[in-house]
Amino acid sequence: MRMFLSRLAAILVLLSPLVATAQDASLDSVAKAMGAASVKTIQYSGSGVNFQVGQNYSPDLPWPRFVVKSYTRAASYDTPALRDDLVRLQGEDPPRGGGGQPVRGEQQQIFVMSGDFAWNVTGDVVNPTPVALIDRQLQLWTTPHGVVKAAMANKATVQGRVVAFSVPGKFRVKAAVDGQNLIEKVDAVVPHAVLGDLPVEICYSDYKDFGGVKFPTKIKQTIGGYPALELNVSDVQLNAAVDTSVPDPIRQTPTPYARVTTQMVADGVWFLSGGSHNSVLIEMKDHLILVESPLNEDRAAAVLGEVKSLVSNKPLKYVVATHHHFDHSGGLRAIAAEGVTVIAHDANKAFLEKALAAPATVSPDRLAKAGKKGTVESLRDRRVLTDGTRTVELLHLAGNTHHSGLIMAYLPKEKLLVEADAFTPAPANAPPPPVANPFSVNLAENIKRLSLAVDQVLPLHGRIVPIAELHRAIGHDH
Ligand SMILES: [Zn+2]
Repeated sequence: MRMFLSRLAAILVLLSPLVATAQDASLDSVAKAMGAASVKTIQYSGSGVNFQVGQNYSPDLPWPRFVVKSYTRAASYDTPALRDDLVRLQGEDPPRGGGGQPVRGEQQQIFVMSGDFAWNVTGDVVNPTPVALIDRQLQLWTTPHGVVKAAMANKATVQGRVVAFSVPGKFRVKAAVDGQNLIEKVDAVVPHAVLGDLPVEICYSDYKDFGGVKFPTKIKQTIGGYPALELNVSDVQLNAAVDTSVPDPIRQTPTPYARVTTQMVADGVWFLSGGSHNSVLIEMKDHLILVESPLNEDRAAAVLGEVKSLVSNKPLKYVVATHHHFDHSGGLRAIAAEGVTVIAHDANKAFLEKALAAPATVSPDRLAKAGKKGTVESLRDRRVLTDGTRTVELLHLAGNTHHSGLIMAYLPKEKLLVEADAFTPAPANAPPPPVANPFSVNLAENIKRLSLAVDQVLPLHGRIVPIAELHRAIGHDH
C-alpha cells in the first residue's frame, strides 16, 4: 500500500506539467467560448434596481435602493473606457439615507471613465470624480469580456475552474467559470478610501447568444457584502462606436482635489472649499479642530497642507465626522494616520473604528503604511468642545432621515452652523424647490428645538449662506 502511494505520488509529480498545460488551455477555451477576441467594445442595456454604496441610513443597514428604469453601459477595451447612462427613480419610501434622495420623478445619471480620468455628466456640466476612478476601472475589467481580456493581459493563473489575476495597486480578481466555459462569478478586492480592502462580487447568469457573442441576461453585484446592482439585460450591441474622448475641463484639471479655496468666516474659523465637498477649520487656544475630511486621501492631504499653512504652530487634535457616508468620511484614514482623534455620533463609532483599523493590502494608504489604527470618540446628543474662550457644540440632528447619526457643529459666539447633507443651498438666485427637502425641514426643526441662534450656515456642500436661505428653501420665509 505504501509502495502504491509513493508510486502514485511520483506519477502525479510527473503529470503536473501536463496539468499545467491543460490549465493554460482553459483560459483560451474560456476566451473562445465567450468570443472575447472579437469584442473590441460592447454596449449592453436593461433595467432593474441599484443601490447607492456608502449612503445607507445607518452603517449597519444595506445600501439604499433605487429603481433603474433604463441602464446602458458602453465598454471599450482597446482604449480603456466605460460609460454608464442611467435613468433612475426613488426606491425607498420614505426616503432614508443619501445618494441624492429624495429623487423626484426621473433622474438621469451619466458616469464616465476613460484612461485615468473619471467624471460625471449632469446636463451640460462635467464634474471630475477621481474618487470613483478605481471602481470604474474595476467595473470595466470585470465585465464578462473584460475579465477574460484582463486575465490574459495579467498572466492569470487557473486552478480548477477559477481564473485568478491581479493588477498591482488596483485590484485582485478571481473569476469562476461554468461548465460551458462562461464566466459565472467574479470576486474582486479593490482599494477603498473608507474601507481599505473592499470586496466586490458579481454573478453572471442566463447567458444568451447576441449576434455570435455570449452575454449574461442577469447580472447581480454586491459591494461590501450588500446588494449594489440587479440588472436584467435585454439588448447587447457588439463593437459599436464608444466615445472615449476626455472633455477639456476634465483633462485640464487632472488633480481637482488638490485645489483648496480658503475663506476666513470669523476670527480663527476658515471655510475650506474648492470642490464638491467642504471642510471647516476651527482654531482653539492650543489646538485645531477640523470639521469633516471628505472624499479620499488626496483631498485629505490637500486640506492638511492648507491647515498647516493657516496655523502652523498648533496641532490638529480632532476631526469631526458628521456621518459615515463614504463621500464625507473618505479622508478620515489619512487624517487618522497623523494621530488625530475622530469624533462622531454613537451610531457611527463601531463602523468607523472598524474602518480605521481595516487592512489596505491592495494599495497601502497612509494609515496602512503608518501601521496605525484610528481613535474614535463619540457622542449621543451633545458634546461641547471648549478652551474657555471659544466653544464648539457638536449636536445630533434628531430624527433626520438622511442618517441616524448625523451631527452638526454650532459656534454660539460666532453664530455659525456647520452641517452636511441636511441642507445644501441651491445656486444663488435659483428659485426654491417646489417641494421642501425633508432633511432640510428636519434641520430647521432641530435648530428651533435646540434654540440655536444662527446667522450663517457653513454647508459641507455648496456656498455659505445666511440662515434665511434655509427658511426660504423649505417655504418658511413669511
Ligand atoms: Zn450623507
